[in-house]
Amino acid sequence: MQKFSRFTDTLWYATAPAAPQTRPLEEEIKADVCVVGAGYSGLTTALELARQGVSVAVLERELIGFGGSGRNAGHCTPTFTHFSLDELRAHLGAPWAERLIRRQTRANDKVGEMIARYGIDCEWEQNGYVQGALYPSHVDTLRNHMKSYNAVGARTRLLDRDEVRAVTGSSRFFGGWLHEEAGGLNALGYARGLGRAVMEEGGRIFTGTTVTGCDRDGQAWVVKTPRGSVRAEKVIYTTGAYTVAGWPKLDRTFRIMRVFVAATQPFSAASQAVVLPGRTTIQDGRGDIYVYKYNRENRIVASMFPMGPRGRDPELTRKILSERLKWLHPELREEPHWEFFWYGDLDMQRRTVPRLYALAPGVVAMTGLSGRGVPTGSMIGGILSDWAMGVAEKDLDLRIEPLSRQPLYMSIAPKLALRSYRLRDNIRAKRQRAELPPYA
Ligand SMILES: Cc1cc2nc3c(=O)[nH]c(=O)nc-3n(C[C@H](O)[C@H](O)[C@H](O)COP(=O)(O)OP(=O)(O)OC[C@H]3O[C@@H](n4cnc5c(N)ncnc54)[C@H](O)[C@@H]3O)c2cc1C
Repeated sequence: MQKFSRFTDTLWYATAPAAPQTRPLEEEIKADVCVVGAGYSGLTTALELARQGVSVAVLERELIGFGGSGRNAGHCTPTFTHFSLDELRAHLGAPWAERLIRRQTRANDKVGEMIARYGIDCEWEQNGYVQGALYPSHVDTLRNHMKSYNAVGARTRLLDRDEVRAVTGSSRFFGGWLHEEAGGLNALGYARGLGRAVMEEGGRIFTGTTVTGCDRDGQAWVVKTPRGSVRAEKVIYTTGAYTVAGWPKLDRTFRIMRVFVAATQPFSAASQAVVLPGRTTIQDGRGDIYVYKYNRENRIVASMFPMGPRGRDPELTRKILSERLKWLHPELREEPHWEFFWYGDLDMQRRTVPRLYALAPGVVAMTGLSGRGVPTGSMIGGILSDWAMGVAEKDLDLRIEPLSRQPLYMSIAPKLALRSYRLRDNIRAKRQRAELPPYA
Protein backbone atom coordinates (compact mmCIF):
# COMPACT_ATOMS: atom_id res chain seq x y z
CA MET A 1 0.00 0.00 0.00
CA GLN A 2 1.14 3.56 -0.74
CA LYS A 3 2.82 5.12 2.31
CA PHE A 4 1.80 8.74 2.73
CA SER A 5 4.06 11.41 4.20
CA ARG A 6 3.19 13.02 7.55
CA PHE A 7 0.19 15.35 7.36
CA THR A 8 1.19 17.26 10.48
CA ASP A 9 4.49 18.54 9.01
CA THR A 10 2.89 21.22 6.88
CA LEU A 11 2.81 24.95 7.46
CA TRP A 12 -0.94 24.81 6.88
CA TYR A 13 -1.45 22.29 9.67
CA ALA A 14 0.32 24.70 12.02
CA THR A 15 -1.60 27.78 10.89
CA ALA A 16 -5.07 26.80 9.58
CA PRO A 17 -8.18 27.59 11.64
CA ALA A 18 -9.55 24.51 13.43
CA ALA A 19 -11.54 21.90 11.52
CA PRO A 20 -15.28 21.60 12.06
CA GLN A 21 -16.16 18.85 14.50
CA THR A 22 -16.67 15.49 12.81
CA ARG A 23 -16.70 11.84 13.90
CA PRO A 24 -16.45 8.37 12.35
CA LEU A 25 -19.54 6.71 10.88
CA GLU A 26 -20.78 4.06 13.33
CA GLU A 27 -24.28 3.38 12.08
CA GLU A 28 -26.28 2.63 8.95
CA ILE A 29 -27.52 5.83 7.34
CA LYS A 30 -29.27 6.88 4.13
CA ALA A 31 -28.39 9.71 1.75
CA ASP A 32 -29.27 10.64 -1.83
CA VAL A 33 -25.58 10.86 -2.70
CA CYS A 34 -22.51 9.46 -0.96
CA VAL A 35 -19.20 11.21 -1.68
CA VAL A 36 -15.96 9.39 -0.86
CA GLY A 37 -13.01 11.65 0.04
CA ALA A 38 -13.01 15.03 1.80
CA GLY A 39 -10.62 16.95 -0.43
CA TYR A 40 -11.62 19.94 -2.56
CA SER A 41 -13.33 17.72 -5.17
CA GLY A 42 -15.48 15.85 -2.69
CA LEU A 43 -16.26 18.89 -0.57
CA THR A 44 -17.24 21.17 -3.46
CA THR A 45 -19.42 18.38 -4.89
CA ALA A 46 -21.12 17.92 -1.53
CA LEU A 47 -21.51 21.68 -1.16
CA GLU A 48 -23.17 22.11 -4.57
CA LEU A 49 -25.54 19.23 -3.80
CA ALA A 50 -26.38 20.29 -0.26
CA ARG A 51 -27.15 23.80 -1.52
CA GLN A 52 -29.73 22.28 -3.87
CA GLY A 53 -31.38 20.44 -1.01
CA VAL A 54 -29.89 17.03 -1.83
CA SER A 55 -29.07 14.82 1.13
CA VAL A 56 -25.34 14.10 0.97
CA ALA A 57 -22.87 12.18 3.15
CA VAL A 58 -19.10 12.56 2.75
CA LEU A 59 -16.90 9.71 3.99
CA GLU A 60 -13.22 10.48 4.64
CA ARG A 61 -10.60 7.93 5.62
CA GLU A 62 -8.52 10.35 7.70
CA LEU A 63 -9.29 14.03 8.23
CA ILE A 64 -10.75 16.81 6.11
CA GLY A 65 -7.98 17.88 3.70
CA PHE A 66 -5.74 14.92 4.50
CA GLY A 67 -4.83 14.41 0.81
CA GLY A 68 -3.43 16.94 -1.64
CA SER A 69 -6.07 19.45 -0.54
CA GLY A 70 -4.53 20.01 2.88
CA ARG A 71 -0.89 19.96 1.90
CA ASN A 72 -0.53 21.66 -1.47
CA ALA A 73 1.49 24.84 -1.98
CA GLY A 74 -1.62 27.02 -2.09
CA HIS A 75 -1.34 28.45 -5.61
CA CYS A 76 -4.65 28.90 -7.32
CA THR A 77 -3.91 29.62 -10.98
CA PRO A 78 -6.83 28.95 -13.33
CA THR A 79 -4.80 27.48 -16.19
CA PHE A 80 -3.71 23.99 -17.22
CA THR A 81 -0.31 22.80 -16.15
CA HIS A 82 0.56 19.97 -18.54
CA PHE A 83 -0.88 21.14 -21.84
CA SER A 84 -1.40 24.29 -23.88
CA LEU A 85 -5.02 24.99 -24.78
CA ASP A 86 -4.43 23.79 -28.35
CA GLU A 87 -2.91 20.53 -27.12
CA LEU A 88 -5.92 20.06 -24.88
CA ARG A 89 -8.25 20.62 -27.85
CA ALA A 90 -6.31 18.00 -29.80
CA HIS A 91 -6.46 15.50 -26.90
CA LEU A 92 -10.07 15.95 -25.82
CA GLY A 93 -11.77 17.08 -29.01
CA ALA A 94 -15.01 19.06 -29.30
CA PRO A 95 -17.06 19.89 -27.32
CA TRP A 96 -15.18 18.51 -24.28
CA ALA A 97 -12.06 20.65 -24.50
CA GLU A 98 -13.94 23.96 -24.71
CA ARG A 99 -16.23 22.97 -21.84
CA LEU A 100 -13.32 22.06 -19.59
CA ILE A 101 -11.38 25.17 -20.61
CA ARG A 102 -14.37 27.35 -19.72
CA ARG A 103 -14.72 25.74 -16.28
CA GLN A 104 -11.01 25.85 -15.50
CA THR A 105 -10.36 29.41 -16.65
CA ARG A 106 -13.32 30.69 -14.57
CA ALA A 107 -12.47 28.53 -11.53
CA ASN A 108 -11.17 31.43 -9.47
CA ASP A 109 -14.54 33.18 -9.67
CA LYS A 110 -15.92 30.07 -8.00
CA VAL A 111 -13.15 30.03 -5.36
CA GLY A 112 -13.72 33.71 -4.54
CA GLU A 113 -17.50 33.23 -4.43
CA MET A 114 -17.35 30.27 -2.01
CA ILE A 115 -14.80 31.99 0.24
CA ALA A 116 -16.92 35.16 0.41
CA ARG A 117 -20.28 33.39 0.84
CA TYR A 118 -19.13 31.14 3.70
CA GLY A 119 -16.61 33.57 5.24
CA ILE A 120 -13.78 31.03 4.81
CA ASP A 121 -10.65 32.18 6.66
CA CYS A 122 -7.91 30.87 4.36
CA GLU A 123 -5.56 33.76 3.53
CA TRP A 124 -7.10 34.19 0.06
CA GLU A 125 -5.14 36.85 -1.83
CA GLN A 126 -5.85 37.36 -5.53
CA ASN A 127 -2.59 39.12 -6.44
CA GLY A 128 -1.79 37.28 -9.65
CA TYR A 129 0.73 34.75 -10.89
CA VAL A 130 3.82 35.44 -12.93
CA GLN A 131 5.61 32.91 -15.06
CA GLY A 132 9.08 34.25 -15.79
CA ALA A 133 11.35 33.78 -18.80
CA LEU A 134 14.95 32.95 -17.85
CA TYR A 135 16.16 33.06 -21.47
CA PRO A 136 14.99 35.35 -24.28
CA SER A 137 13.20 32.88 -26.57
CA HIS A 138 10.97 31.76 -23.70
CA VAL A 139 9.20 35.11 -23.98
CA ASP A 140 7.69 33.92 -27.30
CA THR A 141 6.23 30.85 -25.59
CA LEU A 142 4.72 33.06 -22.91
CA ARG A 143 3.28 35.37 -25.58
CA ASN A 144 1.53 32.40 -27.16
CA HIS A 145 0.09 31.36 -23.78
CA MET A 146 -1.10 34.90 -23.21
CA LYS A 147 -2.86 35.03 -26.58
CA SER A 148 -4.54 31.64 -26.23
CA TYR A 149 -5.81 32.29 -22.68
CA ASN A 150 -6.97 35.81 -23.48
CA ALA A 151 -8.87 34.42 -26.48
CA VAL A 152 -11.03 32.40 -24.06
CA GLY A 153 -11.63 35.39 -21.78
CA ALA A 154 -8.79 35.19 -19.21
CA ARG A 155 -7.20 38.44 -17.97
CA THR A 156 -3.51 37.94 -18.63
CA ARG A 157 -0.73 40.08 -20.06
CA LEU A 158 2.89 39.93 -21.08
CA LEU A 159 5.35 41.87 -18.92
CA ASP A 160 8.55 43.35 -20.31
CA ARG A 161 11.81 43.18 -18.42
CA ASP A 162 11.16 46.33 -16.38
CA GLU A 163 7.60 45.39 -15.55
CA VAL A 164 8.51 41.88 -14.45
CA ARG A 165 11.21 43.36 -12.19
CA ALA A 166 8.71 45.82 -10.69
CA VAL A 167 6.19 43.06 -9.92
CA THR A 168 8.54 40.29 -8.77
CA GLY A 169 11.59 42.20 -7.56
CA SER A 170 13.84 40.01 -9.74
CA SER A 171 15.99 41.33 -12.57
CA ARG A 172 16.76 37.78 -13.77
CA PHE A 173 13.78 37.56 -16.10
CA PHE A 174 13.73 38.58 -19.76
CA GLY A 175 9.97 38.97 -19.54
CA GLY A 176 7.00 37.40 -17.84
CA TRP A 177 3.39 36.34 -18.19
CA LEU A 178 1.06 37.82 -15.59
CA HIS A 179 -2.23 36.13 -14.86
CA GLU A 180 -4.09 38.76 -12.87
CA GLU A 181 -6.91 36.51 -11.65
CA ALA A 182 -4.62 33.96 -10.00
CA GLY A 183 -4.42 33.82 -6.23
CA GLY A 184 -3.00 32.02 -3.25
CA LEU A 185 -4.42 30.56 -0.06
CA ASN A 186 -3.84 28.45 3.02
CA ALA A 187 -4.54 25.01 1.56
CA LEU A 188 -5.85 23.32 4.71
CA GLY A 189 -7.70 26.43 5.87
CA TYR A 190 -9.60 26.37 2.57
CA ALA A 191 -10.38 22.65 2.83
CA ARG A 192 -11.61 22.97 6.41
CA GLY A 193 -13.67 26.04 5.46
CA LEU A 194 -15.31 24.10 2.64
CA GLY A 195 -16.03 21.30 5.12
CA ARG A 196 -17.70 23.76 7.48
CA ALA A 197 -19.74 25.17 4.56
CA VAL A 198 -20.95 21.66 3.61
CA MET A 199 -22.14 21.11 7.18
CA GLU A 200 -23.81 24.55 7.34
CA GLU A 201 -25.76 23.59 4.23
CA GLY A 202 -26.93 20.37 5.89
CA GLY A 203 -24.38 17.93 4.43
CA ARG A 204 -22.86 15.29 6.73
CA ILE A 205 -19.11 14.56 6.92
CA PHE A 206 -17.67 11.48 8.63
CA THR A 207 -13.92 11.36 9.17
CA GLY A 208 -11.78 8.41 10.23
CA THR A 209 -14.09 6.39 7.98
CA THR A 210 -12.47 4.26 5.28
CA VAL A 211 -14.71 3.12 2.47
CA THR A 212 -13.93 -0.55 1.93
CA GLY A 213 -16.37 -1.32 -0.87
CA CYS A 214 -19.71 -0.67 -2.42
CA ASP A 215 -22.52 -3.20 -3.09
CA ARG A 216 -25.63 -2.98 -5.21
CA ASP A 217 -28.85 -3.51 -3.25
CA GLY A 218 -31.98 -3.14 -5.39
CA GLN A 219 -32.02 0.39 -6.82
CA ALA A 220 -29.50 1.67 -4.26
CA TRP A 221 -25.81 1.27 -3.38
CA VAL A 222 -24.55 0.36 0.06
CA VAL A 223 -21.21 2.04 0.71
CA LYS A 224 -19.38 -0.07 3.28
CA THR A 225 -17.07 1.17 6.03
CA PRO A 226 -15.64 -0.78 9.00
CA ARG A 227 -18.36 0.25 11.48
CA GLY A 228 -21.25 1.54 9.39
CA SER A 229 -22.66 2.05 5.92
CA VAL A 230 -24.39 4.59 3.70
CA ARG A 231 -27.31 3.57 1.53
CA ALA A 232 -27.35 5.97 -1.41
CA GLU A 233 -28.71 6.23 -4.93
CA LYS A 234 -25.48 7.63 -6.27
CA VAL A 235 -21.86 7.35 -5.23
CA ILE A 236 -18.96 9.61 -6.23
CA TYR A 237 -15.34 8.71 -5.51
CA THR A 238 -13.03 11.74 -5.26
CA THR A 239 -10.05 10.05 -3.63
CA GLY A 240 -7.39 11.36 -6.05
CA ALA A 241 -3.72 10.58 -5.45
CA TYR A 242 -4.58 9.47 -1.89
CA THR A 243 -6.88 6.63 -3.01
CA VAL A 244 -6.78 3.63 -0.66
CA ALA A 245 -9.03 0.70 -1.59
CA GLY A 246 -12.66 1.85 -1.92
CA TRP A 247 -13.21 0.49 -5.43
CA PRO A 248 -11.21 -2.17 -7.31
CA LYS A 249 -8.40 -0.81 -9.47
CA LEU A 250 -9.25 2.86 -8.89
CA ASP A 251 -5.69 3.31 -7.62
CA ARG A 252 -4.38 2.08 -11.00
CA THR A 253 -5.82 5.06 -12.87
CA PHE A 254 -2.73 7.10 -11.96
CA ARG A 255 0.88 6.80 -10.88
CA ILE A 256 2.33 8.85 -8.08
CA MET A 257 4.77 11.69 -8.53
CA ARG A 258 6.11 13.19 -5.33
CA VAL A 259 6.55 16.94 -4.80
CA PHE A 260 7.93 18.91 -1.86
CA VAL A 261 7.05 22.24 -0.31
CA ALA A 262 9.05 24.31 2.18
CA ALA A 263 8.43 27.54 4.07
CA THR A 264 10.88 30.07 5.49
CA GLN A 265 10.73 32.22 8.59
CA PRO A 266 8.52 35.33 8.25
CA PHE A 267 10.46 37.78 6.09
CA SER A 268 11.23 41.30 7.29
CA ALA A 269 9.68 44.33 5.59
CA ALA A 270 13.04 45.01 3.94
CA SER A 271 13.10 41.51 2.42
CA GLN A 272 9.51 41.80 1.27
CA ALA A 273 10.43 44.99 -0.57
CA VAL A 274 12.91 43.08 -2.74
CA VAL A 275 11.27 39.63 -2.95
CA LEU A 276 7.83 39.63 -4.62
CA PRO A 277 6.89 43.25 -3.76
CA GLY A 278 3.62 42.67 -5.69
CA ARG A 279 2.88 39.59 -3.52
CA THR A 280 2.21 37.54 -6.64
CA THR A 281 2.92 33.87 -6.96
CA ILE A 282 5.91 33.26 -9.21
CA GLN A 283 7.05 30.31 -11.30
CA ASP A 284 10.58 30.71 -12.60
CA GLY A 285 9.58 29.49 -16.06
CA ARG A 286 11.81 26.41 -16.11
CA GLY A 287 10.22 23.01 -16.87
CA ASP A 288 11.90 21.79 -13.65
CA ILE A 289 9.90 24.36 -11.74
CA TYR A 290 10.70 26.56 -8.75
CA VAL A 291 7.48 28.22 -7.54
CA TYR A 292 7.00 30.52 -4.55
CA LYS A 293 4.66 32.95 -2.86
CA TYR A 294 4.07 34.49 0.58
CA ASN A 295 1.70 33.22 3.22
CA ARG A 296 -0.15 35.56 5.57
CA GLU A 297 2.80 35.63 8.00
CA ASN A 298 5.12 36.67 5.15
CA ARG A 299 6.91 33.34 4.99
CA ILE A 300 8.08 32.33 1.53
CA VAL A 301 6.37 29.06 0.58
CA ALA A 302 8.32 27.36 -2.22
CA SER A 303 7.93 24.08 -4.05
CA MET A 304 9.97 21.88 -6.36
CA PHE A 305 10.03 18.28 -7.55
CA PRO A 306 12.54 15.85 -6.07
CA MET A 307 15.39 15.02 -8.48
CA GLY A 308 18.36 12.88 -7.48
CA PRO A 309 19.45 13.93 -3.98
CA ARG A 310 17.25 17.04 -4.17
CA GLY A 311 14.28 16.30 -1.97
CA ARG A 312 16.03 13.33 -0.39
CA ASP A 313 19.01 15.02 1.28
CA PRO A 314 17.48 17.62 3.66
CA GLU A 315 20.60 19.78 3.99
CA LEU A 316 21.26 19.91 0.25
CA THR A 317 17.58 20.53 -0.48
CA ARG A 318 17.43 23.52 1.87
CA LYS A 319 20.63 24.86 0.30
CA ILE A 320 19.20 24.56 -3.22
CA LEU A 321 15.99 26.33 -2.18
CA SER A 322 18.00 29.16 -0.58
CA GLU A 323 20.54 29.54 -3.38
CA ARG A 324 17.78 29.72 -5.98
CA LEU A 325 15.94 32.39 -4.02
CA LYS A 326 19.10 34.44 -3.46
CA TRP A 327 20.09 34.10 -7.13
CA LEU A 328 16.69 35.35 -8.23
CA HIS A 329 16.79 38.16 -5.65
CA PRO A 330 20.43 39.14 -5.07
CA GLU A 331 19.28 42.15 -2.99
CA LEU A 332 17.88 39.79 -0.35
CA ARG A 333 19.97 40.35 2.79
CA GLU A 334 18.16 37.93 5.08
CA GLU A 335 19.25 34.28 5.11
CA PRO A 336 16.23 32.02 4.40
CA HIS A 337 15.65 29.35 7.06
CA TRP A 338 13.32 26.64 5.83
CA GLU A 339 11.35 26.06 9.02
CA PHE A 340 8.68 23.85 7.43
CA PHE A 341 9.30 21.07 4.94
CA TRP A 342 6.79 18.51 3.69
CA TYR A 343 5.96 16.16 0.83
CA GLY A 344 2.84 15.29 -1.06
CA ASP A 345 1.72 13.10 -3.95
CA LEU A 346 0.31 13.92 -7.37
CA ASP A 347 -1.84 11.60 -9.49
CA MET A 348 -0.08 11.53 -12.85
CA GLN A 349 -1.37 9.97 -16.04
CA ARG A 350 -0.09 9.51 -19.56
CA ARG A 351 -2.17 12.55 -20.40
CA THR A 352 -2.91 14.16 -17.08
CA VAL A 353 -6.31 15.89 -17.23
CA PRO A 354 -9.24 15.60 -14.81
CA ARG A 355 -10.94 12.30 -15.68
CA LEU A 356 -14.38 11.08 -14.81
CA TYR A 357 -14.85 7.31 -14.81
CA ALA A 358 -18.04 5.27 -14.97
CA LEU A 359 -17.58 2.52 -12.37
CA ALA A 360 -21.12 1.11 -12.45
CA PRO A 361 -24.61 2.52 -13.08
CA GLY A 362 -24.92 5.27 -10.46
CA VAL A 363 -21.24 5.25 -9.44
CA VAL A 364 -18.48 7.49 -10.82
CA ALA A 365 -14.93 8.40 -9.81
CA MET A 366 -12.62 11.26 -10.50
CA THR A 367 -8.80 11.32 -10.65
CA GLY A 368 -6.11 13.25 -12.53
CA LEU A 369 -6.24 16.68 -10.88
CA SER A 370 -2.51 16.46 -10.30
CA GLY A 371 -0.75 19.81 -9.70
CA ARG A 372 -3.63 22.21 -10.53
CA GLY A 373 -6.13 20.80 -8.08
CA VAL A 374 -6.84 24.00 -6.17
CA PRO A 375 -8.80 25.62 -9.03
CA THR A 376 -9.81 22.31 -10.62
CA GLY A 377 -11.03 20.73 -7.37
CA SER A 378 -12.98 23.94 -6.70
CA MET A 379 -14.84 23.95 -10.00
CA ILE A 380 -15.20 20.18 -10.37
CA GLY A 381 -17.99 20.05 -7.78
CA GLY A 382 -20.15 21.85 -10.35
CA ILE A 383 -19.64 19.03 -12.85
CA LEU A 384 -19.94 16.13 -10.43
CA SER A 385 -23.09 17.58 -8.88
CA ASP A 386 -24.57 17.99 -12.39
CA TRP A 387 -23.96 14.28 -12.90
CA ALA A 388 -25.61 13.44 -9.57
CA MET A 389 -28.58 15.67 -10.41
CA GLY A 390 -29.18 13.64 -13.55
CA VAL A 391 -27.75 15.92 -16.27
CA ALA A 392 -27.40 13.81 -19.42
CA GLU A 393 -23.89 12.48 -20.09
CA LYS A 394 -23.65 14.34 -23.39
CA ASP A 395 -24.40 17.64 -21.61
CA LEU A 396 -21.84 17.25 -18.81
CA ASP A 397 -18.68 19.34 -18.94
CA LEU A 398 -16.48 16.21 -18.71
CA ARG A 399 -16.75 13.10 -20.79
CA ILE A 400 -17.46 9.94 -18.78
CA GLU A 401 -15.01 7.21 -19.73
CA PRO A 402 -14.32 3.64 -18.65
CA LEU A 403 -11.82 3.02 -15.88
CA SER A 404 -8.39 2.63 -17.43
CA ARG A 405 -5.13 1.51 -15.97
CA GLN A 406 -2.00 3.64 -16.38
CA PRO A 407 0.97 1.89 -17.95
CA LEU A 408 3.78 0.86 -15.62
CA TYR A 409 6.24 3.20 -17.35
CA MET A 410 4.23 6.12 -15.89
CA SER A 411 6.02 5.40 -12.60
CA ILE A 412 9.18 6.90 -14.07
CA ALA A 413 8.02 8.84 -17.15
CA PRO A 414 7.22 12.12 -15.30
CA LYS A 415 10.65 12.03 -13.61
CA LEU A 416 12.37 11.47 -16.96
CA ALA A 417 10.32 14.27 -18.50
CA LEU A 418 11.47 16.59 -15.71
CA ARG A 419 15.12 15.78 -16.48
CA SER A 420 14.56 16.37 -20.18
CA TYR A 421 12.96 19.77 -19.47
CA ARG A 422 15.97 20.66 -17.34
CA LEU A 423 18.36 19.72 -20.12
CA ARG A 424 16.31 21.62 -22.73
CA ASP A 425 16.22 24.77 -20.59
CA ASN A 426 19.94 24.58 -19.82
CA ILE A 427 20.85 24.19 -23.50
CA ARG A 428 18.60 27.05 -24.56
CA ALA A 429 19.86 29.33 -21.80
CA LYS A 430 23.49 28.62 -22.69
CA ARG A 431 22.89 29.17 -26.41
CA GLN A 432 21.18 32.44 -25.65
CA ARG A 433 23.95 33.47 -23.24
CA ALA A 434 21.62 33.60 -20.26
CA GLU A 435 23.02 32.75 -16.82
CA LEU A 436 21.89 29.44 -15.31
CA PRO A 437 20.42 29.36 -11.80
CA PRO A 438 22.42 27.49 -9.13
CA TYR A 439 21.97 23.70 -9.18
CA ALA A 440 20.28 23.93 -12.62
C1 LIG B 1 2.64 18.88 -2.17
C2 LIG B 1 1.59 19.29 -3.15
C3 LIG B 1 1.60 20.57 -3.67
C4 LIG B 1 0.60 20.96 -4.56
N1 LIG B 1 0.54 22.27 -4.93
C5 LIG B 1 -0.54 22.71 -5.65
C6 LIG B 1 -0.73 24.10 -5.87
O1 LIG B 1 0.03 24.93 -5.39
N2 LIG B 1 -1.78 24.46 -6.63
C7 LIG B 1 -2.68 23.57 -7.16
O2 LIG B 1 -3.60 23.96 -7.85
N3 LIG B 1 -2.55 22.25 -6.89
C8 LIG B 1 -1.53 21.80 -6.13
N4 LIG B 1 -1.42 20.48 -5.81
C9 LIG B 1 -2.47 19.55 -6.29
C10 LIG B 1 -3.76 19.61 -5.46
O3 LIG B 1 -3.44 19.72 -4.10
C11 LIG B 1 -4.58 18.35 -5.71
O4 LIG B 1 -4.75 18.16 -7.10
C12 LIG B 1 -5.97 18.45 -5.09
O5 LIG B 1 -5.87 18.82 -3.74
C13 LIG B 1 -6.72 17.15 -5.24
O6 LIG B 1 -7.94 17.26 -4.56
P1 LIG B 1 -8.93 16.05 -4.45
O7 LIG B 1 -10.10 16.50 -3.67
O8 LIG B 1 -9.24 15.53 -5.81
O9 LIG B 1 -8.11 14.91 -3.70
P2 LIG B 1 -7.46 14.89 -2.24
O10 LIG B 1 -7.35 16.24 -1.66
O11 LIG B 1 -6.22 14.09 -2.34
O12 LIG B 1 -8.55 14.14 -1.36
C14 LIG B 1 -8.79 12.77 -1.47
C15 LIG B 1 -9.26 12.27 -0.11
O13 LIG B 1 -9.79 10.96 -0.25
C16 LIG B 1 -9.51 10.26 0.96
N5 LIG B 1 -9.64 8.81 0.71
C17 LIG B 1 -8.82 8.02 -0.03
N6 LIG B 1 -9.27 6.75 -0.02
C18 LIG B 1 -10.39 6.73 0.74
C19 LIG B 1 -11.29 5.71 1.13
N7 LIG B 1 -11.17 4.44 0.73
N8 LIG B 1 -12.33 6.04 1.95
C20 LIG B 1 -12.50 7.32 2.35
N9 LIG B 1 -11.68 8.34 2.00
C21 LIG B 1 -10.63 8.05 1.20
C22 LIG B 1 -8.11 10.70 1.29
O14 LIG B 1 -7.80 10.46 2.65
C23 LIG B 1 -8.14 12.18 0.91
O15 LIG B 1 -8.44 13.03 2.00
C24 LIG B 1 -0.41 20.04 -4.97
C25 LIG B 1 -0.41 18.75 -4.47
C26 LIG B 1 0.56 18.37 -3.56
C27 LIG B 1 0.51 16.98 -3.02
